[in-house]
Amino acid sequence: MDRFDVAIIGAGVHGASAAYHLASRGVRTVVFEREAPALGPTGRSSGICRAYYTNPFLARMAWESIGMLRRFEEITGGHDAGFRETGFLFLQRDEHRAQVSEVLGGLTEIGIEVELLDRDALAERFPRFDLDGVGFAVWERLAGHADPAATTTGLFRRALELGAEARLGRAVTAIETRNDHVVIEASDGSRTSCSRVLIAAGPWTAPLARRVGVELPLTVERHVVAMFRWGRAEPVVAHADIEAGYYFRPEGSEQFLMGSLHPAPQVDPDSFPQEVAASEVLELSEPLVRRVPHLAGAEPQGGWASLYDVSPDWQPVIGEVAPGVFVDAGTSGHGFKLAPALGRRVAELVTGEAVDPDLRQFDPFRFERGAVLSAGFGRSRIVG
Ligand SMILES: Cc1cc2nc3c(=O)[nH]c(=O)nc-3n(C[C@H](O)[C@H](O)[C@H](O)COP(=O)(O)OP(=O)(O)OC[C@H]3O[C@@H](n4cnc5c(N)ncnc54)[C@H](O)[C@@H]3O)c2cc1C
Repeated sequence: MDRFDVAIIGAGVHGASAAYHLASRGVRTVVFEREAPALGPTGRSSGICRAYYTNPFLARMAWESIGMLRRFEEITGGHDAGFRETGFLFLQRDEHRAQVSEVLGGLTEIGIEVELLDRDALAERFPRFDLDGVGFAVWERLAGHADPAATTTGLFRRALELGAEARLGRAVTAIETRNDHVVIEASDGSRTSCSRVLIAAGPWTAPLARRVGVELPLTVERHVVAMFRWGRAEPVVAHADIEAGYYFRPEGSEQFLMGSLHPAPQVDPDSFPQEVAASEVLELSEPLVRRVPHLAGAEPQGGWASLYDVSPDWQPVIGEVAPGVFVDAGTSGHGFKLAPALGRRVAELVTGEAVDPDLRQFDPFRFERGAVLSAGFGRSRIVG
């Protein structure tokens, strides 16, 4: 039987990042992935990277991750994360002004460049918006987007270069906890012994945790991304309309994409429509066209649907759920940009090194204690 210090289940961006940080520390690591890195929800992500979070720890993780994405080639020995700085504008209602002012104070202390724009300043700097219902906006200058598949494969390949091993095309089918180790069985019948296991299997985390007798309250939602060509429309800045509930960013020079900030229907992760109907694209674009009327001239290019693994408070679940069995999941549609830096904290947690005390708030069992975390604004809890 193969023996490792840590086995990771899942090579989405969270599993790949943990593998990179573990391998960097010389921890003998193996990654099981039933397909290939980033072929799950990670590879369908919109890749928006902003540090405007209401949760101070997550803001710190996002900020640190953006720094890593900027220096990705240096960190990973030549891989490219495709990071593009665009800046990002958050349109908000007046009722959130006091909360936002407090949040911005904390973000500025971390070093994140955020600026509150009153309606007049907003209208002057970003004249294309219809500001009906908007009280003010937050501008994050150094935000942008990265390529989620390139980021994940970059971290994954670097982990392998540093000594981690990969078991691709192999699904984990059983997890057995023993006195001082864990045995995992894969779809090829192989058995692997390890001191610790990290389940980073996104929407498939809850069924895997069930194999060690743990029920996690994670649900799975289907979310749509719609693509457009600018067509006759003039380019518009990357932004999220927190009240209307959508996000928007340019994709290269010819196109833009958008998605919803609100909850979506729950689905079975093994059987859901990945294609997007024209009516879904139209419905998604309605609040965008109300906010930026000249985008009515943009040309729909279809889109895709993928999965969010959602926790009851829309914040991640990270912690030990059974002896030697850890989870990092429940990222609720906002976990791509957290992963590069968060992976270091997860690696330290799994090995029992210094555990960042801020990580304890994401205890997977917090819901039973009523220790629900706050997140975002109104229905847009995805802001985190
Ligand atoms: C449409 C969409 C848009 C998004 N936009 C953004 C955004 O703009 N910014 C942002 O920060 N976040 C965004 N997200 C969220 C972000 O993509 C996720 O939080 C993140 O990718 C989750 O990564 P993960 O590694 O936890 O899980 P996943 O990507 O789900 O990876 C889990 C992996 O586990 C594997 N696996 C499952 N079961 C097994 C098994 N039994 N054995 C072995 N392997 C297994 C799967 O094949 C998969 O590769 C978006 C997500 C989606 C779907």
